[in-house]
Parts: sequence; C-alpha cells; structure tokens
Amino acid sequence: MSSYREPTIRGDEEPPSGEDRALRPTRMADMVGQRDVYERLMIAVDASQKRGEVLGHILLDGPPGLGKTTFATCIPRELGTTLQIASGAALAAPKDLLPYLSNAAEGSVLFIDEIHRLPIAVEEFLYPAMEDFRIDITLGDGVAARTINMPLRPFTLVGATTRPGLLSAPLRDRFQMREHLDFYPPEDLAEIVRRSAAKLSMPMDDATADEIAQRSRGTPRLANNRLRWIRDYSTSRAEGTLDLAIARTALGMQGIDGLGLDGFDRRYLETILRVFGGGPVGIEAIAHTMSSATDTLEDDVEPFLLRCELVVRTPRGRKLTPRGEEHLGGFPAGGSQTRLF
Ligand code: ADP
Repeated sequence: MSSYREPTIRGDEEPPSGEDRALRPTRMADMVGQRDVYERLMIAVDASQKRGEVLGHILLDGPPGLGKTTFATCIPRELGTTLQIASGAALAAPKDLLPYLSNAAEGSVLFIDEIHRLPIAVEEFLYPAMEDFRIDITLGDGVAARTINMPLRPFTLVGATTRPGLLSAPLRDRFQMREHLDFYPPEDLAEIVRRSAAKLSMPMDDATADEIAQRSRGTPRLANNRLRWIRDYSTSRAEGTLDLAIARTALGMQGIDGLGLDGFDRRYLETILRVFGGGPVGIEAIAHTMSSATDTLEDDVEPFLLRCELVVRTPRGRKLTPRGEEHLGGFPAGGSQTRLF
C-alpha cells in the first residue's frame, strides 16, 4: 500500500518489547485465524478508504492474549495512518485523555486497552468526542464556571476489553463495530507456532508444532511463550536441538498438562474440588482461598476452563464438572491427561 507509514506510538503504554514485538504480526494479512473478524475489519477499512471517510469506532473483546492489541495496531497500518496507545487503567480523569484527543491527527487511530477500566467521568467525556468529535471543557468553579466547546479532528477509537459487560451501555453503543475474539483451534495455533519458530530461526517439525499448539490453551500469546521456553530449554539442555520429546520434557518442567493448563489453573480446579466439595461456590470464596484477585480468576483463568467445560457457572456459583474432576485425577503424576481437542 503506497500510503503506508510506520505508526507513531505514543502514550503511557510502552509498545511490546523485544521478542514479543518480533513475533507480533504487523499487517492484517499476517494474522492467522479469526477469519470472520478479519474479513469484517478489512471490509470496514476498505470502505472507509474508498469513501475517503474516517473509519468508525471499533470495540474488540475477548480473553487476554487472543490478538486484540495486534488487530488494533494492524488497523492503522492498513489505513496508512498513525496510532496512539493508552490504557483505561491509566486514564483516571478527563484531563488524562485530553492530550490523546487533541493530538489525534485526522483519520488516526486511538487505541484504548482495558477500556472497561475507565472511570465513568472519563467515559462521559468520551461520548461527545466519539459521536461529534468535540469535547466540553469546564473552566473555573461554581458560578464562575463556564464550558468551552473544543472541536477535534475526526479519529477512530479502537477499544479493547476482556469484560465487555462492564462497559456502560452508552459507551458500547458508540462503537459502530463490535468484534469478539474467540479461542483459536489447534490448527491455527500450530500455524502461529510454525511462523514464530521460523522468525526465531528454530527448525521445527509438524508434530512438535502440533504439540505446542495443543498445550497453549487456545491462546497465541501462550503458544509463543511456550515456544520461547522450549527454545531456552533446548539451548540450555539439548545443545540447541529440538524434537517432540524435548518439547514435551520442557513443557512438563513448567507443569503444563495435556490440555495446556498450568499449575495455577489446576489449583483453581483443586480448590473447588477439595475445599468446596466440587461447588457450587462463589468466585470471591475461591479467590480468598487461593489468595488471588477475583479479576485474575475471571479474566485469565476461567474463560478457557469454562470453554473446556471443566467448570460451569451456575446461579449459586462455580461448579466442577465430571470432566473437570476427571482431568484433575489425570494430572499430578505428569503422565497421560485427557485431551479435549
Ligand atoms: P490481547 O491484546 O488480546 O491480549 P495480543 O494482541 O497482545 O493479545 O496478542 C498476544 C500475542 O499473540 C501477539 O504479540 C502475537 O505475537 C500473538 N498473536 C495474537 N493474535 C495473533 C494472530 N491472529 N496471528 C498470529 N499471532 C497472533
């Protein structure tokens, strides 16, 4: 694309560093899987370019590590425009958002990660910015207070969230497109592993790539993390050689089982089983027992376990399924585990 410019990344969130950055696809065409989402986003990008209009606001939701940031950083590249990155958690007051909005070039992209963490006052400040490309700034206090209306250059807001349910309805409704990213099937993850291995100059056979894919919890970020660990293991213990047996040993050392669950995932399942008799039990009680935050359990741990039907959510709390119990029975010895995919 002739209009391509390297996106300018500003903001309080550092772009991903080192190898994480090296493995992240830079163009939409390099993204593996999520074909429906990809097609719809490409149509929206193409149409906005053909009409010479600013791309509508886009909300991406889904569990961590599935590609929300990657899509958000690829979109401005397709548009040939610049990108600013902010994090919902760091935007505590409307004034924190002001520099991003006033810096936004015409047609550029503002990416707000964890947008569900914006306080309501910041959300409200965003409404007119998203809808009419203007903001209302109040100067002074009390009777002397007056509101100034400041026009903005039209921009595209891309929001990412692991918790779309926490966004207020007016904010959700201001996104023209809402896309949900789902866990990746093993064949897509295996393709990601093969591409990442090639980027890291690691020769890899298909059986090894399939094994890593199978043990990555449906998540590209984890597939890349597992791959890097296996590379370290291979360098340190196997003179840089790699095959299926070496990959399995390395993954076993990290406590990653056949489903891809790690020790923390299993501790969550074990807590429900041993401490709460299999449930149902409230998430707060599980979190307290594990000395963990409910957010961590809800965002990072539960979505995949629910997806695998190892646990279910009932009106009275979380409950282990027979499959969950069976999986626990299978692991600690480190041997054969049930495979669900
Ligand atoms: P999220 O923002 O949803 O937490 P990221 O976009 O940061 O997830 O993705 C984590 C990593 O996974 C990226 O750095 C990239 O290496 C990899 N990744 C994610 N989605 C894809 C994809 N569709 N194809 C290839 N790699 C991907």
